[in-house]
Amino acid sequence: MAGEGALIIAIDGPVGAGKSTAARLLAARLGYQHVDTGAMYRALALKAMREGVNWGDGPGLRALFERMDLAFVRGPTGQRLVVDGEDWTEAIRRPDVDRGASLVSVHPVVREVMVARQRALGAGGGIVMDGRDIGTQVFPQADVKLYLDASQEERSRRRHAEAVARGERCSLEAVQAEILSRDQRDMGRAAAPLAAAPDAVRLDTTGLPPEAVLEAMLAVVRQRQQGR
Ligand code: C5P
Repeated sequence: MAGEGALIIAIDGPVGAGKSTAARLLAARLGYQHVDTGAMYRALALKAMREGVNWGDGPGLRALFERMDLAFVRGPTGQRLVVDGEDWTEAIRRPDVDRGASLVSVHPVVREVMVARQRALGAGGGIVMDGRDIGTQVFPQADVKLYLDASQEERSRRRHAEAVARGERCSLEAVQAEILSRDQRDMGRAAAPLAAAPDAVRLDTTGLPPEAVLEAMLAVVRQRQQGR
């Protein structure tokens, strides 16, 4: 689809809905950049752990984020997250960081600086950005807004399989409980709670392989491009 205009594509949804995989595949197909905003909250949570900043200290977290050099870098093995010169792609996927990211993201002062950095990253278009508030807060004027969801069981199964593949030992029940508590926090928080934008196209990814999700997303993108 090269040469058809550099769109801003927003993908939102809960944990395990398939956003990151979908966003990565869509960006690759369109030749766009992919920004995983969850990775940014995760990086801040991990940095705070390492620097001794409490996940409850909003102003401290904001100051820490403002000092952080964070970049998404394309490499031979896919996109890497580089923080202050170190590759944190794998480190931010640890289970303690799951919880930390969800806790640091409740602070309005943290969200303010995150959103500013995300807007700067996507300003030129040609971007697929995934998260919780992309279509509602970061880019309310996005060209395409998608809201991905899947059944609770399937979302838990996916997260559990990913954890096992990383070599973690955890039960499906524990993953389910963690997802439930993150969902509650993400949807119930006062600052930018997870919600579908009214003009988002909803896709239920339950039982769908990533390629089918990609095709469904491409259909939405094409429709949008035809309407331009
Ligand atoms: O998507 P991921 O699970 O990596 O995100 C980690 C956490 O970061 C989420 O549980 C959510 O609390 C937070 N987040 C957010 N807004 C975003 C992306 C992630 O609040 N745009």
